[in-house]
Amino acid sequence: MQSTPSAVALTFKYDDIKPEGEPFSADFPLDVAREALEGYVGESGYWVEEPIRASGTLYRTSSGEVIMDARLKGRVRFLCVSCGASRHLPIETREDFVIVPEGHAAARVEEDLTLEGDVELDPDVYTFTPPDLNVTAILRESLILEAPLHPRCDAVGEVCVRYAGLSDEAPGFAPGGVDPRFAPFLAMRDALAQKASPPPARSKGAGGDES
Ligand SMILES: [Zn+2]
Repeated sequence: MQSTPSAVALTFKYDDIKPEGEPFSADFPLDVAREALEGYVGESGYWVEEPIRASGTLYRTSSGEVIMDARLKGRVRFLCVSCGASRHLPIETREDFVIVPEGHAAARVEEDLTLEGDVELDPDVYTFTPPDLNVTAILRESLILEAPLHPRCDAVGEVCVRYAGLSDEAPGFAPGGVDPRFAPFLAMRDALAQKASPPPARSKGAGGDES
């Protein structure tokens, strides 16, 4: 019993998968999602703070392959790599996968093709070892492909706060919109901006010197 409930949620008995389809719905294991995405962008990153839902249907074909129509739905937080704003990336995937038991004819064909070397294999054919089919690793791949390597505000239809700030008196660094770790840099940036623009019309000697 070393399996956690989340790990078994996406494991199915091959023998139970029916031609007419077997619907499933479960939280994608949080630890796997975190391992897959967090620290994946280096300095910035993704934070998986809420469960991502995995759902879909598994079918078994008459020749024994498993077809999975699977969706992931949820969201992950990221820091824009341009401006540091905290944003949410929606996760919404829907994909079909072909999964064949090891030793199955389709898997053997693939092995033979691999030996021949020059053949482009369909990357969407996965294999598993009966009796259990755990689709976590397959969906993990989907999840990674959904997350841009350099996530920016425009990926979620937002404008970088850096640019928004240029046009406003009070820059668009909305409270809560920026990761607190960026606060010192933003303060420094503001200080530099003030230095760079010369003080307005306080010409030499005027005023202060005489008093
Ligand atoms: Zn941004």
